[in-house]
Amino acid sequence: MDPSHPLRVTRRRFLALSIGAMTQAGCMAAARTGFIDAHSHVWTPDTKRFPLGPWITPDKMEPASFTAKQLLATAEPCGVDRAVLIQHAPYYGDDNSYLIHCAKEHPGRFSIVAIVDERRSDLGTHLRHLKQQGVRGIRIGPSRYADRTLVKEPLLWLKASAMRKLWAMAADEGLLLCPLLSAEHLPTLEPMLAEFPRTQVVIDHFGHAEKPDELSSLLKLAQHRQVHVKVSGFYKFGDRKAPYDDLTPMIKQVVDAFTPARLLWGSDCPYQLQNGNDYKSAVALIQSGLDFLDAPSRQAILRDNSQRLFFDEPLAATR
Ligand SMILES: [Zn+2]
Repeated sequence: MDPSHPLRVTRRRFLALSIGAMTQAGCMAAARTGFIDAHSHVWTPDTKRFPLGPWITPDKMEPASFTAKQLLATAEPCGVDRAVLIQHAPYYGDDNSYLIHCAKEHPGRFSIVAIVDERRSDLGTHLRHLKQQGVRGIRIGPSRYADRTLVKEPLLWLKASAMRKLWAMAADEGLLLCPLLSAEHLPTLEPMLAEFPRTQVVIDHFGHAEKPDELSSLLKLAQHRQVHVKVSGFYKFGDRKAPYDDLTPMIKQVVDAFTPARLLWGSDCPYQLQNGNDYKSAVALIQSGLDFLDAPSRQAILRDNSQRLFFDEPLAATR
Protein backbone atom coordinates (compact mmCIF):
# COMPACT_ATOMS: atom_id res chain seq x y z
CA MET A 1 0.00 0.00 0.00
CA ASP A 2 1.12 3.54 -0.77
CA PRO A 3 2.83 4.86 2.39
CA SER A 4 0.85 8.10 2.11
CA HIS A 5 -2.50 6.25 1.81
CA PRO A 6 -4.87 7.48 4.54
CA LEU A 7 -5.72 3.89 5.55
CA ARG A 8 -2.12 2.92 5.95
CA VAL A 9 -1.60 2.19 9.60
CA THR A 10 1.98 2.18 10.79
CA ARG A 11 3.04 -0.25 13.48
CA ARG A 12 3.44 2.62 15.91
CA ARG A 13 0.03 4.04 15.02
CA PHE A 14 -1.52 0.56 15.28
CA LEU A 15 -0.08 0.11 18.78
CA ALA A 16 -1.31 3.55 19.82
CA LEU A 17 -4.80 2.73 18.50
CA SER A 18 -4.87 -0.66 20.23
CA ILE A 19 -3.74 0.74 23.56
CA GLY A 20 -6.30 3.52 23.22
CA ALA A 21 -9.05 0.98 22.53
CA MET A 22 -8.02 -1.13 25.51
CA THR A 23 -7.93 1.89 27.80
CA GLN A 24 -11.37 2.84 26.57
CA ALA A 25 -12.67 -0.66 27.27
CA GLY A 26 -11.62 -0.18 30.88
CA CYS A 27 -8.83 -2.69 31.12
CA MET A 28 -7.01 -5.48 29.36
CA ALA A 29 -9.42 -7.97 30.93
CA ALA A 30 -11.92 -7.18 28.18
CA ALA A 31 -9.75 -9.25 25.86
CA ARG A 32 -9.75 -12.38 27.99
CA THR A 33 -11.79 -15.26 26.63
CA GLY A 34 -10.92 -18.10 29.03
CA PHE A 35 -13.19 -19.62 31.63
CA ILE A 36 -13.68 -17.96 35.01
CA ASP A 37 -13.42 -19.80 38.31
CA ALA A 38 -16.16 -18.22 40.44
CA HIS A 39 -14.79 -19.56 43.72
CA SER A 40 -11.24 -19.98 44.91
CA HIS A 41 -9.33 -19.08 48.02
CA VAL A 42 -5.73 -17.95 48.16
CA TRP A 43 -3.32 -17.40 51.03
CA THR A 44 0.33 -16.66 51.48
CA PRO A 45 3.03 -18.01 53.79
CA ASP A 46 4.18 -14.39 54.17
CA THR A 47 2.35 -13.95 57.45
CA LYS A 48 4.54 -10.97 58.38
CA ARG A 49 3.12 -8.88 55.58
CA PHE A 50 -0.36 -10.46 55.72
CA PRO A 51 -0.94 -11.51 59.35
CA LEU A 52 -3.31 -14.33 60.25
CA GLY A 53 -6.17 -13.87 62.71
CA PRO A 54 -5.23 -14.32 66.38
CA TRP A 55 -7.12 -17.65 66.52
CA ILE A 56 -4.68 -19.49 64.24
CA THR A 57 -0.93 -20.04 63.84
CA PRO A 58 0.95 -20.48 60.50
CA ASP A 59 1.66 -24.19 61.14
CA LYS A 60 -2.11 -24.86 60.91
CA MET A 61 -2.36 -23.55 57.32
CA GLU A 62 -3.13 -26.44 54.98
CA PRO A 63 -1.63 -26.30 52.40
CA ALA A 64 1.05 -23.99 53.79
CA SER A 65 0.88 -21.87 50.64
CA PHE A 66 -1.72 -21.28 47.93
CA THR A 67 -0.94 -17.92 46.41
CA ALA A 68 -2.56 -16.14 43.47
CA LYS A 69 0.37 -17.29 41.33
CA GLN A 70 -0.18 -20.91 42.37
CA LEU A 71 -3.88 -20.61 41.56
CA LEU A 72 -3.18 -19.23 38.07
CA ALA A 73 -0.56 -21.93 37.44
CA THR A 74 -3.18 -24.55 38.38
CA ALA A 75 -6.06 -23.01 36.42
CA GLU A 76 -4.47 -21.80 33.20
CA PRO A 77 -3.60 -25.23 31.76
CA CYS A 78 -7.34 -26.04 32.11
CA GLY A 79 -8.46 -22.99 30.12
CA VAL A 80 -9.34 -20.88 33.16
CA ASP A 81 -7.65 -17.48 33.12
CA ARG A 82 -9.57 -15.50 35.76
CA ALA A 83 -11.04 -16.18 39.18
CA VAL A 84 -13.22 -14.74 41.88
CA LEU A 85 -11.16 -14.78 45.07
CA ILE A 86 -13.24 -15.60 48.12
CA GLN A 87 -12.09 -14.26 51.48
CA HIS A 88 -11.02 -17.13 53.73
CA ALA A 89 -12.27 -16.42 57.23
CA PRO A 90 -10.43 -19.24 59.07
CA TYR A 91 -7.11 -17.55 58.30
CA TYR A 92 -7.85 -13.87 57.76
CA GLY A 93 -11.27 -13.11 59.29
CA ASP A 94 -12.44 -9.81 57.80
CA ASP A 95 -8.95 -8.58 56.90
CA ASN A 96 -9.25 -8.65 53.10
CA SER A 97 -5.76 -7.23 52.45
CA TYR A 98 -4.22 -10.26 50.78
CA LEU A 99 -7.01 -10.63 48.21
CA ILE A 100 -6.86 -6.91 47.43
CA HIS A 101 -3.10 -7.22 47.05
CA CYS A 102 -3.50 -10.15 44.60
CA ALA A 103 -6.02 -8.25 42.47
CA LYS A 104 -3.60 -5.31 42.25
CA GLU A 105 -0.65 -7.56 41.39
CA HIS A 106 -2.56 -9.29 38.56
CA PRO A 107 -4.74 -6.65 36.89
CA GLY A 108 -7.87 -8.00 35.23
CA ARG A 109 -7.39 -11.51 36.58
CA PHE A 110 -9.31 -11.42 39.83
CA SER A 111 -12.55 -10.19 41.28
CA ILE A 112 -13.03 -10.27 45.06
CA VAL A 113 -15.68 -11.44 47.51
CA ALA A 114 -14.76 -9.86 50.84
CA ILE A 115 -15.90 -10.32 54.42
CA VAL A 116 -17.11 -7.38 56.49
CA ASP A 117 -18.35 -7.02 60.03
CA GLU A 118 -21.81 -5.73 59.20
CA ARG A 119 -22.08 -4.23 62.71
CA ARG A 120 -19.41 -1.58 62.10
CA SER A 121 -20.67 1.98 62.30
CA ASP A 122 -18.99 3.09 59.04
CA LEU A 123 -20.44 0.21 56.98
CA GLY A 124 -21.39 2.32 53.94
CA THR A 125 -17.99 4.04 53.71
CA HIS A 126 -16.23 0.72 54.21
CA LEU A 127 -18.21 -0.98 51.42
CA ARG A 128 -17.47 1.85 49.01
CA HIS A 129 -13.78 1.73 49.90
CA LEU A 130 -13.70 -2.04 49.27
CA LYS A 131 -15.45 -1.54 45.94
CA GLN A 132 -12.77 0.88 44.81
CA GLN A 133 -10.25 -1.89 45.46
CA GLY A 134 -11.93 -4.54 43.30
CA VAL A 135 -14.47 -6.04 45.69
CA ARG A 136 -17.70 -7.12 43.97
CA GLY A 137 -19.35 -9.27 46.60
CA ILE A 138 -19.64 -9.82 50.34
CA ARG A 139 -19.59 -13.25 51.95
CA ILE A 140 -22.28 -13.74 54.58
CA GLY A 141 -23.50 -16.62 56.75
CA PRO A 142 -24.73 -17.67 60.17
CA SER A 143 -21.15 -17.81 61.40
CA ARG A 144 -19.85 -14.35 62.10
CA TYR A 145 -16.90 -14.51 59.75
CA ALA A 146 -15.22 -11.33 60.95
CA ASP A 147 -14.15 -12.81 64.27
CA ARG A 148 -15.07 -16.51 63.85
CA THR A 149 -17.86 -16.38 66.45
CA LEU A 150 -21.25 -17.99 65.85
CA VAL A 151 -24.38 -15.91 65.99
CA LYS A 152 -26.46 -16.91 69.01
CA GLU A 153 -29.42 -18.24 67.08
CA PRO A 154 -28.33 -19.37 63.61
CA LEU A 155 -31.91 -19.62 62.37
CA LEU A 156 -32.39 -15.94 63.15
CA TRP A 157 -29.09 -14.75 61.65
CA LEU A 158 -30.78 -12.61 59.01
CA LYS A 159 -33.12 -10.87 61.44
CA ALA A 160 -30.38 -8.70 63.00
CA SER A 161 -30.71 -5.02 62.10
CA ALA A 162 -27.08 -4.81 60.95
CA MET A 163 -27.65 -7.68 58.53
CA ARG A 164 -30.79 -6.02 57.15
CA LYS A 165 -28.79 -2.83 56.65
CA LEU A 166 -26.17 -4.80 54.71
CA TRP A 167 -28.83 -6.27 52.39
CA ALA A 168 -30.18 -2.79 51.62
CA MET A 169 -26.71 -1.28 51.13
CA ALA A 170 -25.54 -4.14 48.92
CA ALA A 171 -28.38 -3.36 46.50
CA ASP A 172 -27.56 0.37 46.52
CA GLU A 173 -23.87 -0.27 45.94
CA GLY A 174 -24.31 -3.02 43.33
CA LEU A 175 -22.52 -5.55 45.52
CA LEU A 176 -23.48 -9.23 45.44
CA LEU A 177 -24.20 -11.07 48.67
CA CYS A 178 -22.71 -14.56 48.78
CA PRO A 179 -24.17 -16.79 51.49
CA LEU A 180 -22.15 -19.73 52.76
CA LEU A 181 -24.71 -21.91 54.47
CA SER A 182 -25.43 -25.41 55.56
CA ALA A 183 -28.53 -26.73 53.82
CA GLU A 184 -30.67 -26.49 56.96
CA HIS A 185 -30.29 -22.70 56.83
CA LEU A 186 -31.39 -22.28 53.19
CA PRO A 187 -35.00 -21.44 54.13
CA THR A 188 -33.78 -18.50 56.24
CA LEU A 189 -32.96 -16.69 52.99
CA GLU A 190 -36.55 -16.81 51.77
CA PRO A 191 -38.06 -13.79 53.60
CA MET A 192 -35.00 -11.64 52.90
CA LEU A 193 -35.12 -12.40 49.17
CA ALA A 194 -38.76 -11.39 49.12
CA GLU A 195 -38.11 -8.22 51.08
CA PHE A 196 -34.94 -7.16 49.21
CA PRO A 197 -35.62 -8.12 45.58
CA ARG A 198 -32.91 -5.74 44.30
CA THR A 199 -30.17 -7.47 46.28
CA GLN A 200 -28.32 -9.91 44.03
CA VAL A 201 -27.36 -13.17 45.72
CA VAL A 202 -24.92 -15.95 44.77
CA ILE A 203 -25.23 -19.07 46.93
CA ASP A 204 -22.02 -21.06 47.53
CA HIS A 205 -21.63 -24.75 46.67
CA PHE A 206 -25.29 -25.66 45.85
CA GLY A 207 -26.18 -24.33 49.32
CA HIS A 208 -24.64 -27.62 50.55
CA ALA A 209 -27.93 -29.21 49.53
CA GLU A 210 -27.58 -32.84 48.61
CA LYS A 211 -30.36 -34.91 50.15
CA PRO A 212 -33.76 -34.62 48.39
CA ASP A 213 -35.37 -32.42 51.06
CA GLU A 214 -32.32 -30.15 51.17
CA LEU A 215 -32.30 -29.88 47.41
CA SER A 216 -35.95 -28.90 47.39
CA SER A 217 -35.10 -26.01 49.79
CA LEU A 218 -32.52 -24.82 47.27
CA LEU A 219 -34.79 -25.27 44.23
CA LYS A 220 -37.53 -23.31 45.97
CA LEU A 221 -35.27 -20.25 46.01
CA ALA A 222 -35.21 -20.23 42.18
CA GLN A 223 -38.53 -18.34 42.20
CA HIS A 224 -36.52 -15.30 43.36
CA ARG A 225 -34.98 -13.94 40.19
CA GLN A 226 -31.98 -12.41 41.98
CA VAL A 227 -30.66 -15.78 43.21
CA HIS A 228 -27.70 -17.43 41.51
CA VAL A 229 -26.05 -20.67 42.55
CA LYS A 230 -22.44 -21.77 42.44
CA VAL A 231 -22.03 -25.17 40.87
CA SER A 232 -18.87 -25.71 42.85
CA GLY A 233 -16.90 -27.73 45.35
CA PHE A 234 -17.42 -31.08 43.60
CA TYR A 235 -14.88 -32.76 45.89
CA LYS A 236 -17.30 -32.54 48.80
CA PHE A 237 -20.42 -34.05 47.20
CA GLY A 238 -21.52 -37.59 46.39
CA ASP A 239 -18.66 -40.02 45.85
CA ARG A 240 -16.22 -37.17 46.41
CA LYS A 241 -14.09 -38.23 43.52
CA ALA A 242 -13.65 -37.52 39.79
CA PRO A 243 -15.25 -37.64 37.29
CA TYR A 244 -18.19 -36.59 39.54
CA ASP A 245 -20.77 -38.25 37.23
CA ASP A 246 -22.79 -39.24 40.28
CA LEU A 247 -23.68 -35.55 40.72
CA THR A 248 -25.50 -35.48 37.35
CA PRO A 249 -29.08 -35.87 38.71
CA MET A 250 -28.53 -33.17 41.32
CA ILE A 251 -27.00 -30.73 38.84
CA LYS A 252 -29.77 -31.46 36.30
CA GLN A 253 -32.40 -30.44 38.85
CA VAL A 254 -30.50 -27.25 39.68
CA VAL A 255 -30.12 -26.38 35.98
CA ASP A 256 -33.83 -27.02 35.36
CA ALA A 257 -34.86 -24.80 38.26
CA PHE A 258 -32.41 -21.90 37.86
CA THR A 259 -31.57 -22.17 34.11
CA PRO A 260 -27.92 -22.04 33.02
CA ALA A 261 -28.07 -18.22 33.09
CA ARG A 262 -28.06 -18.23 36.90
CA LEU A 263 -25.35 -20.80 37.60
CA LEU A 264 -21.63 -20.23 38.06
CA TRP A 265 -18.94 -22.88 38.06
CA GLY A 266 -16.28 -22.68 40.77
CA SER A 267 -13.46 -24.94 41.93
CA ASP A 268 -13.21 -24.09 45.63
CA CYS A 269 -9.43 -24.38 45.40
CA PRO A 270 -7.19 -25.27 47.04
CA TYR A 271 -9.66 -27.77 48.55
CA GLN A 272 -10.48 -29.15 45.10
CA LEU A 273 -6.82 -30.24 44.89
CA GLN A 274 -6.88 -32.48 47.96
CA ASN A 275 -7.61 -36.16 48.58
CA GLY A 276 -7.02 -37.25 45.00
CA ASN A 277 -9.26 -34.58 43.47
CA ASP A 278 -7.98 -32.22 40.78
CA TYR A 279 -8.77 -29.03 38.90
CA LYS A 280 -9.01 -30.50 35.41
CA SER A 281 -11.78 -32.94 36.33
CA ALA A 282 -13.82 -30.16 37.94
CA VAL A 283 -13.69 -28.10 34.71
CA ALA A 284 -14.31 -31.18 32.55
CA LEU A 285 -17.62 -32.04 34.21
CA ILE A 286 -19.14 -28.78 32.93
CA GLN A 287 -17.07 -28.45 29.75
CA SER A 288 -17.73 -31.93 28.36
CA GLY A 289 -19.72 -34.01 30.88
CA LEU A 290 -23.45 -33.61 31.68
CA ASP A 291 -25.03 -34.54 28.32
CA PHE A 292 -28.08 -32.37 28.92
CA LEU A 293 -26.02 -29.13 28.61
CA ASP A 294 -25.63 -27.53 25.17
CA ALA A 295 -22.54 -25.49 24.22
CA PRO A 296 -23.97 -22.03 25.11
CA SER A 297 -25.06 -23.36 28.53
CA ARG A 298 -21.57 -24.69 29.25
CA GLN A 299 -20.10 -21.32 28.24
CA ALA A 300 -22.61 -19.48 30.44
CA ILE A 301 -21.78 -21.56 33.52
CA LEU A 302 -18.02 -21.61 32.93
CA ARG A 303 -17.59 -17.99 31.90
CA ASP A 304 -20.36 -15.64 30.85
CA ASN A 305 -22.31 -15.47 34.10
CA SER A 306 -19.20 -14.80 36.17
CA GLN A 307 -18.12 -12.22 33.61
CA ARG A 308 -21.46 -10.42 33.93
CA LEU A 309 -21.73 -10.58 37.72
CA PHE A 310 -18.12 -10.24 38.86
CA PHE A 311 -16.15 -8.56 36.06
CA ASP A 312 -18.46 -6.27 34.04
CA GLU A 313 -19.49 -2.92 35.48
CA PRO A 314 -22.27 -3.51 38.03
CA LEU A 315 -25.69 -2.60 36.62
CA ALA A 316 -27.30 -1.92 39.97
CA ALA A 317 -24.60 0.44 41.21
CA THR A 318 -25.94 3.83 42.09
CA ARG A 319 -22.59 5.46 42.80
ZN1 LIG B 1 -14.66 -22.13 49.63
